Amino acid sequence: MPEKPIRKVRRGTVEPNLVDYDAACRDFSWDQARARLQGLPDGRGLNIGHEAVDAPASRHPGKVALCFVGKDRAELTYDDLRRLTNRFANVLEHLGVRRGERVATLLGRVPDLYVTVLGALKARAVYSPLFSAFGPEPVRQRLALGDVRVLVTTPSFYKRKVAPVRDDLPNLEHVLLIGAAAPAIVGTQPLAPLMGSASDDYTIGPTDPDDPALLHFTSGTTGAPKGAVHVHGAVVSHHVTGLYALDLHPDDVFWCTADPGWVTGTSYGIISPLTHGVTCVVDEGEFDAERWYATLESEAVTVWYTAPTAIRMLMKAGPALPREHDLSKLRFVASVGEPLHAEGVRWGCDVLGLPIHDNWWQTETGGIMIANFASSDIYPGSMGRPLPGIIAAVARRDDEGNVITNDGVPEFAGDDERGELVLRRGWPSMFRGYLGMDDRYEACFTGDWYRTGDVVRRDANGWFWFLGRGDDVIKSAGHLIGPFEVESTLMAHPAVLEAGVIGKPDPVAGEVVKAFVTVRAGVDPSDDLALELIGFARSRLGAAVAPREIEFDDHLPKTKSGKILRRLLKARELGLPEGDLSTLEVSH
Ligand code: ATP
Ligand code: MG
Repeated sequence: MPEKPIRKVRRGTVEPNLVDYDAACRDFSWDQARARLQGLPDGRGLNIGHEAVDAPASRHPGKVALCFVGKDRAELTYDDLRRLTNRFANVLEHLGVRRGERVATLLGRVPDLYVTVLGALKARAVYSPLFSAFGPEPVRQRLALGDVRVLVTTPSFYKRKVAPVRDDLPNLEHVLLIGAAAPAIVGTQPLAPLMGSASDDYTIGPTDPDDPALLHFTSGTTGAPKGAVHVHGAVVSHHVTGLYALDLHPDDVFWCTADPGWVTGTSYGIISPLTHGVTCVVDEGEFDAERWYATLESEAVTVWYTAPTAIRMLMKAGPALPREHDLSKLRFVASVGEPLHAEGVRWGCDVLGLPIHDNWWQTETGGIMIANFASSDIYPGSMGRPLPGIIAAVARRDDEGNVITNDGVPEFAGDDERGELVLRRGWPSMFRGYLGMDDRYEACFTGDWYRTGDVVRRDANGWFWFLGRGDDVIKSAGHLIGPFEVESTLMAHPAVLEAGVIGKPDPVAGEVVKAFVTVRAGVDPSDDLALELIGFARSRLGAAVAPREIEFDDHLPKTKSGKILRRLLKARELGLPEGDLSTLEVSH
């Protein structure tokens, strides 16, 4: 365990939003958080589209809301966004789309995507993003599961990814193609003329905070993706987590690198920052280390929210590139999606001059739950502490992985004891169901507590440490081993770039730890290196936890969102079928 925290580093003159963590937790109430938002006029309720667009547009219409930095640089002000989203809401009404019906996008990071999301929310339709790198089968699966009625996409995506499966989607009534001159394709209509004849004015109808608003599919890291339903009231969580965990201030230039095809790209790439009225940078291109550093510099990004997979790629690109850029405007950097190894936090200090603040949440929680804050010290490798308003605990599990309960209440673990992360229900962005899987939803709760499926420990000071997903945890000779702690240790060795750790069945120990390791460029993956790594891990973790076996692998299997797929490593190890890869869309 790292003993020495990284002391907070303050850059610039702004005070962190969360100065006194304990006081904020003590004084917090969701009603007060709700009161920070405008609400629909005349007490007509709470609507995400209003809070993300109309409310900030009423305060500063001419301010840039979205700045697209792709080939064709474009800017949309808050007032542009207000008018365009009103038009799109009118288009949906014109098409007869009713409250609660589903509207999806299959788009890259283009302006139409943002207009569709926010316009659909204003129209009280339920919005569902589809990741644009999906092939036809994952697209079909999600459009069918979500019973989607309207899809907004490009002519090229339509031809390649939707047309081949369109016959299996009888309820997909309208396909709207973006582009100035969308070609005539049977079964579709161009969006531009519909937008052109729609009015700039739109009055959002009464919206109950419990009305469904978003349908997000999970990443599918542990199995088939699940469709999590979120409500309009979630915007309270989006807003307040942007305040506390991302430390958003009105003058910030914010860049969230997550693709809007996933929950992070919607909650924090769109909704949260817009409710704060900040300027959001949108990079339309794929990852490119050189361009990313250039974007941080040229757009004068102040707050950056990215992911461990991106940080690993930047680490791989080497330290010379960032030195060519002036990154001094950057004030706060955070990361989510996978464990952020201590190495990543330190890399931030070395290369950006700022530590990276890891935070934890999942599709089901709708917003950040546990975070490292701008005003707190950082213990590298820890995901931080619960946000004000969030009550998190560690529940004991039995050998089968079930939470142990007494009278329906989970039995809580002591300090540093490993168990399942549970959250007390009641935060506004908590999911309200898995589409078509009621039993599965019910099974997520033990009394008042939501089971996250992740195994963690909490130290005596209240910091949470991620150990692994419940399904990935290794049981070896009576020990419960989190793959993450082994991976982090291996990554501290200078030869190692990435590692994926699994339990390999063993007649004596039950399971033994096996690591798949990608070495850094120029390093020879020799038997001697494998022995050295085992020794290195033993000296830090002890023989019971260190890997017994190391296999070098230059292409660890990952989900499209960049997460290491341990279950696939395990399936390979056991010679089992790897599952339906066509729906998983693994990237290598
Ligand atoms: P599925 O539920 O379909 O298997 P998934 O869990 O990867 O996929 P997401 O909801 O996108 O789908 O990811 C949330 C999960 O990602 C968390 O439950 C956790 O396991 C992991 N995760 C997210 N942030 C962190 C973090 N900061 N540290 C460690 N793990 C994280
Ligand atoms: Mg999950």
